[in-house]
Amino acid sequence: MSDVLTLGETMVALRGSGPLKLGGSLDLSVAGAESNVAIGLSRLGHTVRWAGAVGDDEAGELVLRTLRAEGVDVTAATRDAEAPTGLILFEPRLPEVTRVHYYRAGSAGSRLAPDAVDAAFAAGAPRVLHLTGITPALGPSAAEACRRALRLAREHDTQVCLDVNFRSRLWSSEQAATELRAWLPYVDVLIASDDELPLCLPSGAATTPEQVLLDEGIREAVVKLGAQGATVHSAEGPLHSPAREVRAVDAVGAGDAFVAGYLSALLDGADLSTRLDRAVTTGAFAVASRGDWEGAPTRAELGLLKAGPGTVVR
Ligand code: ATP
Repeated sequence: MSDVLTLGETMVALRGSGPLKLGGSLDLSVAGAESNVAIGLSRLGHTVRWAGAVGDDEAGELVLRTLRAEGVDVTAATRDAEAPTGLILFEPRLPEVTRVHYYRAGSAGSRLAPDAVDAAFAAGAPRVLHLTGITPALGPSAAEACRRALRLAREHDTQVCLDVNFRSRLWSSEQAATELRAWLPYVDVLIASDDELPLCLPSGAATTPEQVLLDEGIREAVVKLGAQGATVHSAEGPLHSPAREVRAVDAVGAGDAFVAGYLSALLDGADLSTRLDRAVTTGAFAVASRGDWEGAPTRAELGLLKAGPGTVVR
């Protein structure tokens, strides 16, 4: 049994150092919201299974090899002989503005089959299932795989965490709202940016978005506020944590790192304030490091943010 099961698309990631159209060299890595969370959790000492699909190609090999190297269990991952592994290009266009280009239509990850989820649960039900709103937007099969996972989670008493992660290039807000609202009865921990909250609400709701979510049975509604930190809403009321002060070098992946920190403390049985504290810490590590997941801290490194500028750790 793993602490956490997650599924979604992980792509080969190429990262340039300036305008893409000028050419030059690119760094090769992998990226995917759910596998970013998986790596973050694994570095913090939790057992995590990733059940995505990659092509039967060298790019897929890179994805699986990277996740394995990070201690993520990929025994439930599938290889699709008829579709390639997806590709993402990161184009740092201004010091604080990165453009992202996707080549994922028809990819192996977008064709993830519901059977893969059965296999992932058959190996032992996890304590937490983590899904994002990206996977159901990839295609009908991937959406069905998520619904299957939600039903299996309910059958096995597995807690469900959903990060809304709305991607307007993949689907409309109306499509996202229809799908994700149907998921809410299965969700224990909802994580969203404040501008994503309306997607999860019935139209014309009279009270605050967070109260509507709690009334719908969500146990914890966690709102990410970028450099302002985050707020968790629960039956105990709202609890806010400011962001950790760091020099931001790359905001990509902050949300996923935040989720990893939050779930790590939840798995430890820590209270809401500790969950939020670890989440803003891991989120800050992500913005202070280049790459989607590369800067994720181990448990021993969590305290490093308290070190002053210029500190040399010997
Ligand atoms: P992304 O989609 O780029 O991964 P997101 O929109 O999902 O990001 P954010 O709200 O930008 O998520 O960031 C998640 C968390 O990371 C924030 O709640 C905060 O704790 C931390 N964070 C983000 N930006 C900064 C920053 N500039 N300085 C310190 N911490 C930050």
